Parts: sequence; C-alpha cells; structure tokens
Amino acid sequence: MIFDTTLRDGEQTPGVSLTPEKKLEIARQLDKLGVNIIEAGFAAASQGEMEAISLISKENLKAEICSFARGVKKDIDAVVKSGADSVFLVIPSSDLHIKHKLKKSKDEILELTAKSVKYAKDSGLIVELGPEDATRADMKFLKKMIAKGISEGADRVTPCDTVGILTPERTYKFYSELKDAFPDVKLGAHCHDDFGMAVANSIAALKAGADEVHVTMNGLGERAGNAALEEVIVSLKLLYNVETSIKTESLYDTSLLVSRLTGISVQPNKAIVGENAFVHESGIHTHAILSKPLTYEPIPPEIVGRTRRLAVGKHAGSRGIKAALEEMGLHPSEEHLEEIFRRVKALGDKGKIVTDADLYAVAEAVMGLPTTRAIKLEELTVVTGNKVIPTASVRLNLNGNPLTEAATGIGPVDAAMQAIRKAVSAVEPIRLEEYHVNAITGGTDALVEVIVRLRKGDRVVTAMGAHGDIVMASVEAMLNGMNVLMSNHNKT
Ligand code: MN
Repeated sequence: MIFDTTLRDGEQTPGVSLTPEKKLEIARQLDKLGVNIIEAGFAAASQGEMEAISLISKENLKAEICSFARGVKKDIDAVVKSGADSVFLVIPSSDLHIKHKLKKSKDEILELTAKSVKYAKDSGLIVELGPEDATRADMKFLKKMIAKGISEGADRVTPCDTVGILTPERTYKFYSELKDAFPDVKLGAHCHDDFGMAVANSIAALKAGADEVHVTMNGLGERAGNAALEEVIVSLKLLYNVETSIKTESLYDTSLLVSRLTGISVQPNKAIVGENAFVHESGIHTHAILSKPLTYEPIPPEIVGRTRRLAVGKHAGSRGIKAALEEMGLHPSEEHLEEIFRRVKALGDKGKIVTDADLYAVAEAVMGLPTTRAIKLEELTVVTGNKVIPTASVRLNLNGNPLTEAATGIGPVDAAMQAIRKAVSAVEPIRLEEYHVNAITGGTDALVEVIVRLRKGDRVVTAMGAHGDIVMASVEAMLNGMNVLMSNHNKT
C-alpha cells in the first residue's frame, strides 16, 4: 500500500504552504497516479487545513483520505469533522520524546495510546497508529505500545523513523522483529532522508514484511525530506519486479505539478524526475544510446512519462549532434556536420551553454540555409504595478500574418509569456516546460539570461534569451525556441 504524505509531511517542508485549492489539485493528481492513501493534512492545525481536508474528502476520490492527529481529543474531533476516512494518530514512543516533549511517564503513554485509539475508533475512523521516533524507542516498550493500540482496535501501525536514523540492515531487523511479534498486524514504514537512506530503508522494511510505505512526491518533507515516492516505486518495479497500484507513466507530470504548486524545484540530478535524469550529453554515451538505449539508460524514460534528450554542448559527439539536427529536420553533409561540431565545441569551451536554438542557428549558418524565423516580435507592452493586474499585449508576425493577443499573469514576465503562448497556440500547440533565470552580473542593471525548455508533441527544445530587461530576455528565449519548433526546414 502506498501512503502518500506530500500534503502533510511534504507540506511541512520549510517554505511550503499550500492553499486548500492547491491541495485539492495535488490530491486529484495523486489519486490519478494511483496512491492508496492520501494524508491530506492536519485537520486541527488551522482553518485552512480543515477546509483542505474537507474539500478533498468531498471529492469522492478512490484513495482513502487521512488526516494527521496527536493523541488529543480535539485533534481527533477535528479529523471527524473534516470528513476524512482515517486518522494517522501519532504518539511519542522514545524516552527522549516522552520525557522531553510530553513530560509524561511511560505508563501514561500506554494509557494515552489506548484512550486515543479507542476514541478514534468509536468516532468511526480507520486508525493508523504512528509511534513517533519509534526507531529510537526501547523495543520492549514499543511492542507494549503497539499491543495496546491493537487491542483497542487500531487498523494499522506505522512506527516512525522520525529523524531518519535507520540503515537498511537495521530496518530489516526492526521490521522482522515486529512482524514476528505481530504477524497479523498491518505494518507501515515512515522513513526520513537525513542520511539519504529513506528509499533504501523503505524497501528494506517491505522486504522484512511491512505492508505499507509512507512517501512524498519529489521526496519533500521536513529537514532532508521523506522517502521519495517516484524512487521507491520505480525501484520496486525495475529492481525488485514488484508492481504497485501506481501508474508510473504519470510520475513526471505529478512531480511537475507538485514542484510548481509548492514552489520547491527539483534538483537537476535527482533520480527519475530531475531535469537531467534522461539527458545524455557525452559523445561516448549518446553514440551508444543511439544504437541501444539500454547501454546508458537503466530506466526507459517512457515508463515514467518522460522522453530521452540528447543535449548539445562541448561533451557532445558528432553523432549526438547529428541526431539532434535530424530531429530539427536538418540533414547536413559530413563536411557541414564537422564544421557545426567544431563550432559547438568552441562555444562550449568559452563556457557558453549551448541550447538547441544555438545549435540550430549554427547549423543554418554553416549549411548556408536562409535564416527562417516563423515568428517575429513586432510590439510588446507590459503593464505592472501595485494596483494593476500585470497585463501584456503582444503583436507577433507569424509567417507574414499579424497575431495580436493580450493576457494577464502573476507578474510581468508571466503575462508576456502567456500572451505569446496564447497568440501562437491558435496555430501551434507549444508548451513551456521549464524556465530558468540567471543574473550574469551583480546590480539591478544585470544582464539576465533566461533558458526555456519548450515542447511540441514529442519534440523538446531548449533556447536562451539574454537582455538587460528580464521580460525581454524571457520573450527572446521563448521566441527562439518556438522558431526552432516551427522551422520550415522541418518540411524538407
Ligand atoms: Mn515525518
């Protein structure tokens, strides 16, 4: 069983705060992805949390909807009021937490466990008991606490590795011992990534007989985060041949949605969902990949809803560049290819990031092709300020035809990009997938570099714009990329 806590533990990521509407949007996507349980928040924490869990509960999703609660009557009452199906009832179990956090005795904890589980069960909830900091608790006491919970009707028990101190070996031993003591009890694992072992520990727990894992999308969560859903699932599928309810083709879309709505971007080299996870630049690798993907690609990208990308740049080989050009509809001769290759390497050696749009421009020059720019910017006006909704109006020239469009946005850049996208989307369905800004120099007059990644169907291109004005740099990047995607040479 996959218990997703992106909306509770994941939301406790420093700097993240989701509105009820955003939580609902993520919950819908998690349900589509196929998670079994969605921990949607902490009902007693705030009015917004209560509202979010209620909204999600009313949505009639396939997944069980759960709320976090402490062993406190008002917390459990809030869960009932929210309409959630279940409660993740967390009660401290280690001496450290019992003494220093709750300032109670162990007997009082056992009593609290029994009372809280009984109260939650009597209130009609499915109860998942979560002994907190269980991996630092005295095992004898932990077993007593679990037994207490079970005898009062707890449906599942998830001892938490609250501070992420398990190793795969210890996890295996820990869960084996609990499974021996409680063979009929559904056990879960809740692993944190303080030492980078959350995924390995979650899998070790499953191997030892655990029935459920707590995970978050993109590995979000307090401190170093929780076990990453995408990593646990894809490892189970490809390394252990274990199928789950998760539709892995939706993993990447889910990751993008979560990073967009939480504002926490994924590191480029992150497994499965990082920007570079399926990008090959080195010549040796691209050469082999083109003849057989398995050589340097342990995960077929389509399994997780992604596509392979061969990056151009100074590490690229001529075959990789040839393949990239062919995707753009360009078929240079051997001599031209050699010259294009030489120029791309030279750009890379100067420290320049070589985007697809740069490669395209180099190839056009070397091959003596007429420079085709399907879209030209004729006019752009952006209005922004503290009392207006940022609005942009744009006039483009698309193959000689004028296109006029206006749009509003979160800020001036967003408004300008939206206006262009709206104008062009009538003709070409182009999607902006990524947007990065670098300020090259210090001050507020810095030269700004914007790199975008655009998609049209299966084709993805990168492009850059550089300008002193961030709006213009963004527009330039967008148009450069769109021009590659819409180039006329594609038809030759
Ligand atoms: Mn946690």
